[in-house]
Amino acid sequence: MCGIVGYVGNKNATPVLIKALKKLEYRGYDSAGVAIYTGEEILVQKAKGKLLNLAEKITGEIIPDQVKKQDFSDTEMALYDKTGDFIKGCMGIGHTRWATHGEPSDLNSHPHTNMDGSISIVHNGIIENYADLKAKLQAQGIVFKSQTDTEVVVHLLDQKYKASGDIFKAVIETLHVLEGSYAIGVICKDYPDRIIAARKESPLVVGIGKGENFIASDVPALLEHTRDVYYLGERELAVLYTDHVDLFNFDGEKIIKQPSHVEWDMDAATKGGYEHFMIKEIHEQPKGLTDTMRPRIVKDASGKPVDVYFEENKMDEAWKKASRVVITACGTAYHAGVVAKYAFEKIARMKVDVDVASEFRYRDPILDPSDIFMVISQSGETADTLSALRLAKEQGLKVVAITNCVGSTVSREADDVIYTLAGPEIAVASTKAYTTQLLCLFLLAVKAGKLRGTLSDEEATKLLCELESIPSKIQEILDGKDVIQKFASQQFNKDKIFYIGRQFDSATSLESALKLKEVSYMHSEAFAAGELKHGPIALIDPATLVVAIASEPKLYDKIGSNMVEVKSRGATVMVITQDSGDAFEGKADLVCKIPECSSTLASLLTVIPAQLFAYYCAIMRGYNPDKPRNLAKSVTVE
Ligand code: GLU
Repeated sequence: MCGIVGYVGNKNATPVLIKALKKLEYRGYDSAGVAIYTGEEILVQKAKGKLLNLAEKITGEIIPDQVKKQDFSDTEMALYDKTGDFIKGCMGIGHTRWATHGEPSDLNSHPHTNMDGSISIVHNGIIENYADLKAKLQAQGIVFKSQTDTEVVVHLLDQKYKASGDIFKAVIETLHVLEGSYAIGVICKDYPDRIIAARKESPLVVGIGKGENFIASDVPALLEHTRDVYYLGERELAVLYTDHVDLFNFDGEKIIKQPSHVEWDMDAATKGGYEHFMIKEIHEQPKGLTDTMRPRIVKDASGKPVDVYFEENKMDEAWKKASRVVITACGTAYHAGVVAKYAFEKIARMKVDVDVASEFRYRDPILDPSDIFMVISQSGETADTLSALRLAKEQGLKVVAITNCVGSTVSREADDVIYTLAGPEIAVASTKAYTTQLLCLFLLAVKAGKLRGTLSDEEATKLLCELESIPSKIQEILDGKDVIQKFASQQFNKDKIFYIGRQFDSATSLESALKLKEVSYMHSEAFAAGELKHGPIALIDPATLVVAIASEPKLYDKIGSNMVEVKSRGATVMVITQDSGDAFEGKADLVCKIPECSSTLASLLTVIPAQLFAYYCAIMRGYNPDKPRNLAKSVTVE
């Protein structure tokens, strides 16, 4: 999910690789490492934390904290240059890791090596069948050094290489065994003139230099050296030598590709061509959801989804006996908790209480040891959520955490952790972390329903099949984003925006209003639609936009009446709905249609137009949505 680089040429590879990794820092990471062929052996150095920590480890020099805070300082760059005095060699691979399997640590950092250190690999992505592969390898006496999914790849490769004596063949054979998403870079002591690289569902670019060639997860790592690249396609391999690059498919057949010339500047490149991280991350949701879902859905022999499996889950017994789920979280994660209340009630018939963490911790909450306590935090470092977790543990409750950050404090202190595999989220306003949190909560509700016997096998299969279709439905909404952009261009000057909805849609309204506030600074509020007449309707005037969210056909009439009430008082109305008929004809200025979906899971879709609307309003009002004023990404203070 983070950064890979590789270099073969005539320069000292270590500083080239570390500086290239520096250019990929924007992708987020928790540790880094390099493997360099020195002419005799492959030397590996890795360190938890920033690239500077790695450079300190290599050189033995300590950089003052003050200097560490200045990004791209001369001191920092000079230290990277110095690494070349300590590890010399003209070929190597490097990696910045965003942990998905195993906490961030020196040992779990990449590169990983086979037992005798003659093969070294870097990997981005997730090996979904690693547990099976690892068990088989361990049974054959292979000793694993790390907790990562990645390490299976290098041991498999080692076995296949020993069998065939041909590293290229061994890589191809290994790739055929792997399931999941990956970009990999491989070096082997017996082949000191080449790097082998391959990709499936994770990005990888080959940089074509003069007397040197490169691999990288993204173009910014290469721009200092070359603008000529091959974008490796799905299931393609590259073998890089100093003076040329050969490309292959996964069957080992040579392919011919035209190189591309990169015209972008550095800033555009880091955002993958998008103008901001926020819109990039909105577009990454189909992938983030697929990555989060795929390893967790259990299928029968015919490929039918039948159950949910969380490898980290140790609390099956607690789920069976629990009388209630108590969820605490803050901000966007709290809104995911509100959706979960409806989801657990409907899918698993479980009682759920949801609370804002900062409120929960200062109350004298009534907790029962048979309650399951759940915390949700993108960063896993949210101070209020962490305090709530500790309070619950003091009272003897079992805690399950949902977080996007492996090794975070929340993940370490909880009894059970479910990771969202959204990849690092850089924009302050959360988008892909939110939808992957929702997904984990739905999966958990299905699992709880099955464990407790409150959800039939047929219903579980139906829900899981539908979940599998969500990423492509989100893609459909994203493909039609122009409608939202145009509407935002007409509405961005409104005085106030109200989101209304019922049931699941009232939870989505909360998140939609927050997103708009965060990035566009427009005054927005969310109301359960039925509450309008109990007060908020007094605020409606022609300067108001009301966004109705309507995913439940049984309630179309009710929300339709609410829309008429506000429209007749001068408000502009948009409805986000899956209705393809005329349920809202004449009642809305814009009907924003989402693909069909059961109302139970529709919150994964209805929030997408709202995220887009918030983003476009921010742009039209001239704000940078990636860095909203007064807000921080990870709220580590009370
Ligand atoms: N899944 C691998 C790990 O946890 C790779 C993560 C990454 O892409 O950085 O080590």
